[in-house]
Amino acid sequence: MPGIDFSKLRAEIVMEEVLSRLNFEAVTQHGDQLRGPCPVHGSSNPQSRSFSVNIRSGRYFCHKCKSQGNQLELWAAVRKMPIYEAAVDLCQSIGREVPWITRW
Ligand SMILES: [Zn+2]
Repeated sequence: MPGIDFSKLRAEIVMEEVLSRLNFEAVTQHGDQLRGPCPVHGSSNPQSRSFSVNIRSGRYFCHKCKSQGNQLELWAAVRKMPIYEAAVDLCQSIGREVPWITRW
């Protein structure tokens, strides 16, 4: 299996893009900090603010299910996939090329 350049992937596909792909709609926004229903455990209330994400740092945290991480880890958690598969799946979903690590 070829390697994936995860840091390149995270630089190319930012948190905001992942959130919009997940149809996340923020309930509140203070600067870079958004709060809203959690796409990981699937908040039943659309006004829930258990999910907190900073679009500048690209980190998220859910106060309810305790899921946290960067945008790729968010995608992996929602899709219930290991990171490697999630990276490929995310690129395909957004229509980007997977940043494979090419050996010289
Ligand atoms: Zn959650």
